[in-house]
Amino acid sequence: MSNFYVTTSIPYVNGEPHIGHALEFVAADVIARYMRQFKTPVLFVTGTDEHGGKIADKAAELHITPKELTDKMTQTFVDLLKELNISNDRFIRTTDPEHIKRAQAIWKTLEKHIYKGNYTGWYCSGCEAFYPEAVVKADNGTCPIHDKPYEKLEEENYFFKLSEFAPRVKEAIESDKLRIVPENRKHEILNVINSGLDDISISRPKEKINWGIPVPDDTSQVMYVWFEALMNYITVLGYPEGKDFKEYWPANVQLIGKDILRFHAAIWPAMLMGLGIELPSVLYVHGHIEIDNKKMSKSLGNVIAPRDIVAKYGVDAFRYFFMRHIPAYDDGDFTWERIEAAYNNELADQLGNAVGRVAAMINTYQKGTIGAIPEPEHDVAQYKEALAACRFDKALDEVWDQVRGVNQYIEETKPWELARAGDPEHLREVLARAAGSLIEIAMLIAPFMPDTSYKIHAVFGTGQIKPLAHPLFPKAETKAQK
Ligand code: ZN
Repeated sequence: MSNFYVTTSIPYVNGEPHIGHALEFVAADVIARYMRQFKTPVLFVTGTDEHGGKIADKAAELHITPKELTDKMTQTFVDLLKELNISNDRFIRTTDPEHIKRAQAIWKTLEKHIYKGNYTGWYCSGCEAFYPEAVVKADNGTCPIHDKPYEKLEEENYFFKLSEFAPRVKEAIESDKLRIVPENRKHEILNVINSGLDDISISRPKEKINWGIPVPDDTSQVMYVWFEALMNYITVLGYPEGKDFKEYWPANVQLIGKDILRFHAAIWPAMLMGLGIELPSVLYVHGHIEIDNKKMSKSLGNVIAPRDIVAKYGVDAFRYFFMRHIPAYDDGDFTWERIEAAYNNELADQLGNAVGRVAAMINTYQKGTIGAIPEPEHDVAQYKEALAACRFDKALDEVWDQVRGVNQYIEETKPWELARAGDPEHLREVLARAAGSLIEIAMLIAPFMPDTSYKIHAVFGTGQIKPLAHPLFPKAETKAQK
């Protein structure tokens, strides 16, 4: 199998990491771990986006340099990756000298599609984004994300000829050369493209924003933060001459949130076309997470730090909840009650119980010896299909059918009665089949819950039961906070 390259979007470090970031990290990690099972060479990259006016302003407020601020903030993301057991191979920062150097080289290569002009139009400093007239009109002049009026900007900028690429970008998306998952996001971006793609401003005057990558050969301008941030996906590979670029580009899957679809499905492909290189295969777009059906926001005071959830339920339960109970193709809702229910009912009562019971019976009735385990007998086609389509929730539904199946099998075959009736042959067969199914389950959950998978393998994997020191998911009676 050929090489596999998967990326997350790189979070902007003007705030602490939240569960939306965590969702995307875990989803990418599931894909990377899954592909590594096939001995495919995988490169999994994440990182941080560190330039721009918002960073500079915040640093000034704190009386530190922008670099000091981003060093500190980036560390919080690096820490989160560790807490979530994310297996990324690399971490790119847009302040890395390599990124800066290569971003400038990319700008030079794109120069025939770049011109200098006067930008008069709309801008939200909260979004650090330029908006076309139509969007501003539709929003009645106020950015709905920041609840702040759009500013009218008039300044000299460099422009990228996005309009020139619009027909080809549209064709690539329509034909699934660049496949956008799920389908409704594909239609959404096609609507945007059909309503017209204007050329975009890709620089800011240095006198207004100082914290950015200088435009080559023009000291009065810095690159617009979004424009250079997108380049991270190839600068991290050493584009253009790097070995990794030759071996890993085009990306197999790029993961993003729905709010940055326009950048990744319109501007990014156009930039790649301008460079004359291939488009990524799949752009997977996840939804947003609400908390108790309310938008997560600092002003509502309902922001939950991922580490608070991990501290209560453990990393694997965290990964499980966000992959199964936040819909892969839609927005989702986090509540402490929902995660506690999933933890107790599905992880403790179903998976933990099956592992504990089967191991205990083999210990009691057979002195821990499992005996010949039958070949895996479950059809995993649906699971594989779901993962290939980034339907993480569906993939885990498939696994849980099997988890419930093990418990049901034990209820139906009643090994304790076989033991009492003195039918060791049949008893051994039943328990070996149950153990075999749990080993299979351990394999299927490995991308999602690596520690749990490892523990289940440790119990059954050698043919002789190695009991767990602690139950897999001890029941959480009083864990819910609210
Ligand atoms: Zn805004």
